[in-house]
Amino acid sequence: MARPQRPQQYYDQIKDKFREERDLRLDYRPPGTDQFTSEFSGDLAKYAVDPYAKDVPSREPISDEVEVLFIGGGFSALLTSARLREGGIESIRIVERGSDVGGTWYWNRYPGAACDVVSYDYLPLLDELDYVPVNHYSRGPEIFSHCQAIAHKYNLYDLAVFNTTVIETRWEKSDQLWHVKTDQGDVMRAQFVICANGTLAKPKLSAIAGMEDFAGHSFHTSRWDYDYTGQNLEHLKDKVVGIIGTGASAVQIVPELANVAKKVFVFQRTPSSIDVREDWPTDPNWARKLEPGWQNKRRSKVLAAVENSLEKRAAKGASSPEEKLKKQENANIDYMMRIHKRIDEIVDDPGTADSLKPWYMFMCKRPCFHNEYLPSFNLSNVHLVDTHGQGITKISPKGPVFEGKEYELDLLIYATGFEVQQTGIYNDIVGADGVNLQDKYADGIRTLLGIHTAGFPNLFIMGGYQASFQFNLTEMLQTQGDHIAACIDYLCTNDYHTLDASDEAEEWWVQKVIEHRGKTSRSEECTPGYYNFEGNEQRRQDGNYNGGFRQYFEHQGLVREKMQKNFNLTSRKN
Ligand code: NDP
Repeated sequence: MARPQRPQQYYDQIKDKFREERDLRLDYRPPGTDQFTSEFSGDLAKYAVDPYAKDVPSREPISDEVEVLFIGGGFSALLTSARLREGGIESIRIVERGSDVGGTWYWNRYPGAACDVVSYDYLPLLDELDYVPVNHYSRGPEIFSHCQAIAHKYNLYDLAVFNTTVIETRWEKSDQLWHVKTDQGDVMRAQFVICANGTLAKPKLSAIAGMEDFAGHSFHTSRWDYDYTGQNLEHLKDKVVGIIGTGASAVQIVPELANVAKKVFVFQRTPSSIDVREDWPTDPNWARKLEPGWQNKRRSKVLAAVENSLEKRAAKGASSPEEKLKKQENANIDYMMRIHKRIDEIVDDPGTADSLKPWYMFMCKRPCFHNEYLPSFNLSNVHLVDTHGQGITKISPKGPVFEGKEYELDLLIYATGFEVQQTGIYNDIVGADGVNLQDKYADGIRTLLGIHTAGFPNLFIMGGYQASFQFNLTEMLQTQGDHIAACIDYLCTNDYHTLDASDEAEEWWVQKVIEHRGKTSRSEECTPGYYNFEGNEQRRQDGNYNGGFRQYFEHQGLVREKMQKNFNLTSRKN
């Protein structure tokens, strides 16, 4: 369908409004990422407690040696392990803070949890496990079960240790192994260590004055307390519940609360963009006809479609870079106005509908897809507290306070998100020259492909900065896992013991990352959020590689074609 022709003035006015709304937020929260805390000690320690780990058995500290040790047991570890097993690696250990594998899907068990990426693309290793997801979009429990199924298939439970947090990872020159210390007194040795601790793993709270004094019950979305709410939220029937935040987690939770709780207050700082979610049960006839290799073929098609996206099509035929950018922006604004129109069509109260409208470009924030979130605000027990970009800044013993009004709650849920892509620096990682990885990164992140970093032999980082961004995260992680497994295979086949990125290769990649960042000023123009470091000034190298997922994948292959040039390789006891 042809897009309606609108004068440029129409788009310029909307862009002005985007700018006003962004500035409002930046003025309210100049500290950027420092507005949040993830240091859960003292009164905040309860927000980190694992509610799913019941009756954890005590065990003796471990002191042994394995070939490959993963810090974290989510998809990064599972996908890489599958390839390592195929390559004949026998001793693989997962060290995991939770009491099972699954990562994101272990922790995020809140009601309504589901994935926004189509299940046939998101759930990995479907061919290998001979599994076809139940629906077009998978729910949390199915994804968690799939993680467990992968761990069983590749015998990853054998050496895994759960309820264990790595506190130090140190390269020992004497035995040329990593020595990994944990909070359980373990000292495990490993030839290869893979930081697989997730892109959005550590919960964060908005540092709100008085939060320690709240007298009701409270928890973070990734630590859902079913003992309090009941498995089907049945204990909330007579409870007044508040939820702070309206990101992807809250969007899935609010409809569930709305169905049950006596009253629900949704404390909103910035609305999410909510589009339709087209879900359906998998057609068994379709599933039966799937041929081996179907998932890879599907993923390639999806990638090609993304590469030929609406914005790119809109820019076709543009005569100059400026015109191309304008066409892309206008297409983006048209999309966002369609999101606004949908809100007007669904939400009965015009004031509430206006409050729910996102004023920023599509993809400034993580887009959401849900069919019940917006209708929830038509229910008489659900109340939107629009803080107009300011956010909740005070909590009394009774509940959140905004504009002098105290919202008295039984339960307060923090849907305030997670630290972003800090994988690799959650514990003290000390390399071959005694340098701590955090200190190395202090002057800017330096990696090869976001995976290797010079001076840290046989260490691999997954899901961190300087890697490509991909909406289907498991696809990105699989390419990293394949690359890591291929590197390890190369070492084994050629009788090498260590691999360490060369300074030249690392510098080449840092420059590649810089070259592809900031092609437009879109990031600075965006409303603050975790996609743009909450509006903080950022060094150009301290983000993702934006040259495209296909190019990232190709660069991995090119790096591996010249192992001798890109890495310092040594044999044992060199
Ligand atoms: P987000 O970081 O996306 O959202 C945090 C929310 O908290 C934002 O709405 C933020 O507002 C709000 N907030 C923070 N401080 C305050 C305050 N003081 N007062 C009021 N509001 C406040 O976290 P989520 O857990 O929602 O999602 C994290 C990511 O996890 C997603 O972006 C997505 O990538 C992934 N995810 C995917 C899902 C899926 O596939 N469906 C489901 C759930 C999560 P503001 O916007 O103003 O900063």
